[in-house]
Amino acid sequence: MTTDVYDKAKRSAVMARVKSKNTTPERTLRRILTGLGVRYRLHRKDLPGNPDIVMPGRRLAIFVHGCFWHGHDCARGSRVPKANRDYWLAKVGRNVARDERSVAALRASGWRVEGVWECDLKDEAALTARLSAILDQAAASPEASAASAGGSDNT
Ligand SMILES: [Zn+2]
Repeated sequence: MTTDVYDKAKRSAVMARVKSKNTTPERTLRRILTGLGVRYRLHRKDLPGNPDIVMPGRRLAIFVHGCFWHGHDCARGSRVPKANRDYWLAKVGRNVARDERSVAALRASGWRVEGVWECDLKDEAALTARLSAILDQAAASPEASAASAGGSDNT
């Protein structure tokens, strides 16, 4: 009697689902942005930290961070494995330091930088509202204001 609960085909289907689940935060964010009517580019390798989402016209870069790997101050982020605790803490510490350097470098060259946490994606409505506000701000650049200054918005 075998103890293997899955046959081979079923097992690979299960593994595929687990694997695709790992990319869900970024895909969810992309779906929300598309719903907001935004055009964006992915993984700009020429920018510090390789931001997950980039909107060159708005000079807006968004990072999607896993709570544990990037040291988020939330329930999921502070759940450090008991085994090799020092190792994990050091690794997360290096990630956090690298993130900070990337954000500083981007801001120094005129980019707005936003971070979206894995746990933010649990409340899609709240995240959508936040992104919408961010996009409104990003659109209100000096050029955009100047262009709309002569508009007929005065009622
Ligand atoms: Zn979190």
